[in-house]
Amino acid sequence: MPTKRSAIWHPFTQHALQDEMIEVARGSGAYLHTSDGRSILDAISSWWAVTHGHCHPRIVSAIQEQAGKLNQVIFAGYTHEPAEEVAELILNVAPRGLDHVFFSDSGSTSVEVALKMALGYWHNIGKRRTRIVVMQHSYHGDTIGAMSVGARGVFNAAYGPLLFEVTSIPFPARDREQATLDELECACRNESPAAFIVEPLVLGAGGMLMYPAWMLKRMKKICEASDVLFIADEVMTGWGRTGTLFACGQADVTPDIACYSKGLTGGALPLAVTLCRADIFDAHYSQDRRRTLFHSSSYTANPVACAAAKANLDIWQDQETHQRLASVATMQEQQIERFRADPRFANVRRTGTITALDLKTSDAGYLAGIGPKLQEFFRDRNLLLRPLGNTIYVMPPYCVTAADLQEIYAAISDAADALS
Ligand SMILES: *Cc1c(COP(=O)(O)O)cnc(C)c1O
Repeated sequence: MPTKRSAIWHPFTQHALQDEMIEVARGSGAYLHTSDGRSILDAISSWWAVTHGHCHPRIVSAIQEQAGKLNQVIFAGYTHEPAEEVAELILNVAPRGLDHVFFSDSGSTSVEVALKMALGYWHNIGKRRTRIVVMQHSYHGDTIGAMSVGARGVFNAAYGPLLFEVTSIPFPARDREQATLDELECACRNESPAAFIVEPLVLGAGGMLMYPAWMLKRMKKICEASDVLFIADEVMTGWGRTGTLFACGQADVTPDIACYSKGLTGGALPLAVTLCRADIFDAHYSQDRRRTLFHSSSYTANPVACAAAKANLDIWQDQETHQRLASVATMQEQQIERFRADPRFANVRRTGTITALDLKTSDAGYLAGIGPKLQEFFRDRNLLLRPLGNTIYVMPPYCVTAADLQEIYAAISDAADALS
């Protein structure tokens, strides 16, 4: 019953190895309820999007209300109240110094827009700066531009000819931070890059790799010294994941351009924003129509998605949301603590509400044979966990309880016993 042969081609799915999908009928809080009557604990917030839990009542009613008023309108030459409110509220909570908000509809698109803003800026002020500097192991999305600035590997091997060249600096592994700073400085001085794009504090799809806030601050300073635009891709780290609303806040960094998506609507509907400083907007502001930012998608700033985002931003105004965030971080630390000295695991780590640990196996990496086995093990325990190779991570919605977390980590420990 939960599975049937279907015409659908699923994302990041090898159908020859996994052709049976779990059919989900309802979502509520931290749980997904399947058509065949099971309840699955969503330990990764349905791919990092669902921040406050599934079907949060305030977000649901905002969507219902907006859907009957205005559910789509062209956004070139037209505007609407939900978009205006979201833009204003976001600028109030984003790092000080960001002045403009461009809407789009996915994290990848918000990155494409960021890259186009950066290139457009240099083009419009008449300087030839086109190169992008990136960090090793980064992930910025699956469209061509976003893939180009992300790590090269099995994900994009077939599409290599479509990708543009970038300069890559090493990931700042512990005690090797100076090498990262040196290489960034070298690239900024010698290559006159247009921009540096980075995931602040946590590299998500690259393996939940974490680095400290002071590094983010130092990298920003280096970019500033050479006028290299600093793009913060907070598509994953935004909306509380790292313990503060945005990761840049912990480093007291104001990026020149910032990308937010995933949790922007609390994970209810697709929406993204790219924020930028005034000078980037100003470089496009002209009587000359050739200086326009030439980007749009059909559903730019969809009113229903904006209403969901507005409800999410309202939820973040509540003190209680911030208390919950702090308590999830504390509960996560309590759970991960006992794994730090566990010989079955390495690199046991946490930033804010995200934890990750690497199961010691003979083959590491995304295609590690252990990955699918782990996934299956958790599936049988009615847990939604999706390890990145041998890296198991927990990124729960903020409504998760101590008992839920207890269950998740017990399963992780059992999986290590059963599979390694
Ligand atoms: C998920 C992700 C993206 C892409 O977002 P989509 O909405 O899946 O297109 C971009 N950057 C980062 C850091 C992400 O985690």
